[in-house]
Amino acid sequence: MISNPSTETPVSSKLEALLNLQRIDSQLDEIRRVRGDLPEEVRDLEDEIAGYEVRVSKFDEEIAALNDQIKQRKQAAKDADGLIKRYEEQQQNVRNNREYEAIGKEIELQKLEIQISEKKIKEAQYQIELKNTDIAGTKQRLEDRKKDLENKKGELDVIVSESEADEKKLMDERGGASQPIEERLLTAYTRIRGNVRNGLAVVTVKRDACGGCFNTVPPQRQADIIAHKKIIVCEHCGRVLADVEARNA
Ligand SMILES: [Zn+2]
Repeated sequence: MISNPSTETPVSSKLEALLNLQRIDSQLDEIRRVRGDLPEEVRDLEDEIAGYEVRVSKFDEEIAALNDQIKQRKQAAKDADGLIKRYEEQQQNVRNNREYEAIGKEIELQKLEIQISEKKIKEAQYQIELKNTDIAGTKQRLEDRKKDLENKKGELDVIVSESEADEKKLMDERGGASQPIEERLLTAYTRIRGNVRNGLAVVTVKRDACGGCFNTVPPQRQADIIAHKKIIVCEHCGRVLADVEARNA
């Protein structure tokens, strides 16, 4: 309970001032809440786009590596072909059967080398095809996300520029609204607002319940609140109970 030793300002005026401040702060909370979601969405999209860009550049590197492999294999097959031609010439001039057969084995080896190279080239070409399909999908998603980002950024710019004026006006209003509230009470108000989830530090009693935590406020306590002799807080949540709303309202 926040007691009221001073008699300078009536409690009812203090409560009125607190309610007014709460009204302004709730509007400021709302502006920041609306704006609060969009920057996060923009950041998420930027992260997603960066991820796709890394993926595309990785694909490009992988395809370049596969093309290098193909080039090397083509060169190896060409070299083997050249060797075969040389061996075949040598075979014309052998002195005996043993030399002929030895060269024949070399020729077989080079033919095998060519077969392996051709197989590897086909494999690499197939890998490139797969990756190209994959890249096309990723690039499409990247383009879509970039459009989304552009839209969200536009939305955010509009909201920020729209609410900037409202925010400034409310901040000015807030300065005036907090002025008549004594330091001690203002500190308590700020502390309570920081402790509760919905930012409401000052509430009214509605249908016998605290407007902040919805726990029941006993009749005697309600009578004390209505009397406005001292500032009364909710015994459950600590929020200031400024008034009791009419039951038939
Ligand atoms: Zn409460």
